Amino acid sequence: MLLAPNMVQTEILEIDPVSPQPQLIAKAASIIRSGGLVAFPTETVYGLGGDATSRQAVSKIFQAKGRPSDNPLIVHVAGRQMLDDVAPEISDKAARLIEQFWPGPLTLVLRRSTMLGPSVSAGLDTVAVRMPSAPIAFALIQAAATPIAAPSANTSGKPSPTSARHVLHDLAGKVDLILDGGDTLIGIESTVIDMTADPPVILRPGWVTAEVISSVIGLVKAADSEAQLRRSPGTRHKHYSPQARVVLIERGSPDFIQRTCKKFLEIGSVGYLGHTPAGINRPEFSEIIVGKMPQDYAASIYSSLRRLDERHPDVIVVEGIAPAGEGEAVMDRLRRAATDIITEDS
Ligand code: AMP
Ligand code: MG
Repeated sequence: MLLAPNMVQTEILEIDPVSPQPQLIAKAASIIRSGGLVAFPTETVYGLGGDATSRQAVSKIFQAKGRPSDNPLIVHVAGRQMLDDVAPEISDKAARLIEQFWPGPLTLVLRRSTMLGPSVSAGLDTVAVRMPSAPIAFALIQAAATPIAAPSANTSGKPSPTSARHVLHDLAGKVDLILDGGDTLIGIESTVIDMTADPPVILRPGWVTAEVISSVIGLVKAADSEAQLRRSPGTRHKHYSPQARVVLIERGSPDFIQRTCKKFLEIGSVGYLGHTPAGINRPEFSEIIVGKMPQDYAASIYSSLRRLDERHPDVIVVEGIAPAGEGEAVMDRLRRAATDIITEDS
């Protein structure tokens, strides 16, 4: 097949998410070691991985995603030695979080070692590090024997990928290999906590909540000011957005949801995602109903936004959930995806 310049042939390999086949892991690891890119499932979302110690591989990641160069990448490690290589100074509090939550969906911002080039951290003197628990991700990093920089494997600004199909849609021709291990378990990205601040600051809420973290290390703060968010440049950029305009209903009765959908149906087609059926049966209206627990939303918001968007609606209306516990991370992602945020009483 003839490929455009800078394009690669993207191969997809199905792999067992519980006991990944060693020969498939070895093949993916050798691509990473030779400076190529491999997309793989973690427990959160699919990552677009490259050798974190290779300037070229890191630059390929930014290019493939169209990611602004001021948005640093998360470096994934498998084992204590690799952690020490990328971030030699581990405070007591950081050590306690590692002990409690790794491998798992918690990313720690730590001081960066010189083993990593500046571009992986977008020029900051810190690095975001995580040890993933998904067997495919863990085995791949171990086999590659190098830390793997891996942001979500989507085009920058689009909903994150929770299946190999999503990755292929966004990155065909830009990634050498996609390891297809089925749908990811959690469905939204890791919690990011800045351990270089005192008290530590949660830069991005995630599955590991602030309450659970403070039960281990005491006081933590939420990033509430511009100054704090400047420490995490990526949080400023537009995120997770499908093509359609997204209207998030933060709070609203079933009647308000129906009225809102009908109002937008007067001007075009509408997709709706929520746990309350909108009670509308019209050809220009499509609906995806999910469970109302945070885990139901997390597991399906990105894939549902993508599915609704494939029907090219003018507007996607999303019903929010209570922003408590894990719901906070879900609402954080929905707010970032939204063009408009409304409540019944506003
Ligand atoms: P993604 O990999 O697309 O899930 O996004 C990674 C997130 O981690 C972004 O919100 C980044 O801003 C944040 N991040 C990565 N590295 C750092 C760092 N060194 N300091 C602060 N935030 C970071
Ligand atoms: Mg991302």
